Amino acid sequence: MKRSERRFYAKLYTVIVLCGLIVAGLLVLTLSGGAQRIRSTAANSGSNTASAMASASANASTVSTAAATAVPTAVPTPTAAPTPTATPDTTSDDSLLKIVNRTSRLDQNYVPEDLVQVDVASSHTIYLRSEAASALEEMFSAAEDDGVNLVLISGYRSYEDETELYNYYVNLYGKDHADIIDDMPGASEHQLGLAVDLGTSDGTCRLDECFDTTGESAWLVNHAAEYGWILRYPQGKQDITGVIYSPWNYRYVGRDMAMKISASGLTMEEYFGE
Ligand SMILES: [Zn+2]
Repeated sequence: MKRSERRFYAKLYTVIVLCGLIVAGLLVLTLSGGAQRIRSTAANSGSNTASAMASASANASTVSTAAATAVPTAVPTPTAAPTPTATPDTTSDDSLLKIVNRTSRLDQNYVPEDLVQVDVASSHTIYLRSEAASALEEMFSAAEDDGVNLVLISGYRSYEDETELYNYYVNLYGKDHADIIDDMPGASEHQLGLAVDLGTSDGTCRLDECFDTTGESAWLVNHAAEYGWILRYPQGKQDITGVIYSPWNYRYVGRDMAMKISASGLTMEEYFGE
């Protein structure tokens, strides 16, 4: 072997030894890291939970410190306060959800403050609370678009109107009947300005149970809730509402509530647990 060759092999040997050392060094580092991981896993799954938690929180604080230094301080987003679920107000006289019945009566002096004249087909001037009036006008025009011509028979009635009506029915049908229809002074939602009696344009089944056989009634059953109105005295609920089945009597509660109550198939008393 020549001298130059020997030098070459000597250099090669040195390089190989150096590479071996580097690889060995890396191997030691890797193994010690693995061992640390194994130890930390053991600590986490072991009985010393407190130390594991402390180590975890230390890690978390390290991370957050790192994040804080690395990222420019962000303006904290205000946390939205949890929206309190509003309890439906079924007791205030001016609430759109006020329930009036035989046991929950209105004072004879109660008159809604926002009564307006309703602009729909009717035989005389009828008033409702503003929101109910707009909703009714919208509903009548939607019905008309579907070829259904509704007529408004009655809306807001004062305590005095109810007294007059009640006496009229007592004379006409007797007290037993007057007591189970929606005419009782103080116990009628007509005094809220949120109840309507609806009819057909030709007067078929006016304020009669057979109103439910008309196309007008069928349209209302399918669409009234979309405009905020519910059938207030459904069939088979007289023991709850105190009023006989009145397919012509609708009550305004607002669209969202009307959709929910209508879908539930319950009366307002049942729906709100009154
Ligand atoms: Zn009525």
